Amino acid sequence: MEKQAVRVVLEQIAASLALKGDNPFRIRAFENAARAIAGYPGDLAEALRTGALAEVEGVGKGTLEIVRELLSRGRSSVLDELREEVPPGLVDMLKIPGLGVQKVRQIHEHLRIATLAELEVAARDGRLAAIPRFGAKTAENVLKGIAFLKRSTEFRLFHHALAEATSVQQALATLPGVARVEIAGSVRRRREVIRDLDFVVVHAGSGTRETLVRQLGEVPGAPVDVVLATPDDLGLAWVRATGAAAHWEELRARGLDVAGRFPDEESVYRALGLAWIPPELREGAGECDAAAAGTLPRLIEARDVKGFVHCHSNYSDGTATIAEWAEAANGAGYEWIGLSDHSQSAPFAMGLRPDAIGRQHAEIDRVNAEVPGIRVLKGVESDILADGRLDYDPATLDRFDFVIGSIHSRFGLDQTEMTKRVLTAMDDPHLAILGHPTGRLLLSREPYPLDLEAVFRKAAERGIAIEVNADPHRLDLDWRLVRRARALGVRFSIGPDAHSVAGMANMEFGLGIARKGWLEATDVWNTLSADDFLDAARRRLP
Ligand SMILES: [Zn+2]
Ligand SMILES: [Zn+2]
Repeated sequence: MEKQAVRVVLEQIAASLALKGDNPFRIRAFENAARAIAGYPGDLAEALRTGALAEVEGVGKGTLEIVRELLSRGRSSVLDELREEVPPGLVDMLKIPGLGVQKVRQIHEHLRIATLAELEVAARDGRLAAIPRFGAKTAENVLKGIAFLKRSTEFRLFHHALAEATSVQQALATLPGVARVEIAGSVRRRREVIRDLDFVVVHAGSGTRETLVRQLGEVPGAPVDVVLATPDDLGLAWVRATGAAAHWEELRARGLDVAGRFPDEESVYRALGLAWIPPELREGAGECDAAAAGTLPRLIEARDVKGFVHCHSNYSDGTATIAEWAEAANGAGYEWIGLSDHSQSAPFAMGLRPDAIGRQHAEIDRVNAEVPGIRVLKGVESDILADGRLDYDPATLDRFDFVIGSIHSRFGLDQTEMTKRVLTAMDDPHLAILGHPTGRLLLSREPYPLDLEAVFRKAAERGIAIEVNADPHRLDLDWRLVRRARALGVRFSIGPDAHSVAGMANMEFGLGIARKGWLEATDVWNTLSADDFLDAARRRLP
């Protein structure tokens, strides 16, 4: 369980206590704890084990106990008990801008409602506006707030959905009569956010979909959709349950015989004269035409990847030492990695001071001499300052093997200013990679306004790579834009943006997005040898 999930639980506890009218100091303590946990730079499980978490300001004994419980069994008994007294729907209502504790209590008392769905109805039919001092304006704002909340609560991040889908798959596989279970739907297509989990189940007995779903029992999390298939029509069922609606319609328009016998997916596409289409591409965005013309990309695969850049060590806000990074990447089969700690002005203030650069580089040299089989490159994730300058002087930037430039502050600039800022940074010959180029945080922060066409054109012109940031909260650049940038000749770097060696696993999510963006191995710097990567990172075209 991650920090953000722990934060949400602590916030829900605070909100439930507030709705109950509990002691304000106790409420404040949980709010502070939520902030402290969310901002804690290290690994939670490790900090709990070593006792470091107990030292963090704002984290008291009660919070430690909650964190321990969440990490070990994924639930909090404190929150579970509060939910008996305070309907969770009321806590959800607090997230609507303009609805504080007093208003939510009034709603509960006057209208006897306890869910967002009921609140939406009441806001539409005039009951909400009729509560003393509410009025039509409040009702209107509530409707707007619900629309926003719906999107962020109906959808979940890909990595959470994948974990849920995998456990549901395992549960389905143990049910009587089940011969095979396959994940389908948007999880299989590797969308960045997911609403439902879809499965195709081959059932040997006489079971129906309804009995299967009943046997599965209640599944926490996303809605589950199961399609039953026989070995004879598994291929057809799987294609149908995987593709976006537009993909399926396209197959139908090409004359797909839905009564045919299709034991595997290849046979479905073959019947239409098409090559098998990788699931990531089945969005109804030209993939069938490409399959018909024989121009489908040979998508990048994990085995094409030789190395990656964009990870943080304990020289900035990462937890691992350089030697730990080298060992872990070596163990995972990479040939090279590029460390990129934050630069001096990083607002979270743990960036590399110029005097630490020499020490870090000496340590990297030592590790390179001691750990065989892996090469550690010396990089930096330099802030792009508000005026577009990189965060060190040219002589300091010269000391690094490669420079990633990223924006971490002043997100509020308008599109003209933001575009100028990024294009100015791209004029600096040190800049090799533009990190998390739109700044979006999935389901929580919109991208900043940026003329991406201009950025892509300049990147292609100058030989600067655009990052596919593989942190599942970012997945930035978006796959739809990856495809556009590729068409303009841009190259890419898949970066895990890892702050611990466990974060190396992000690479899988970045690869999924690269594939969704139609990228081939040759489009991506990660497939180069270390020397060729360094050449690409240093070669700037005028
Ligand atoms: Zn960053
Ligand atoms: Zn980073």
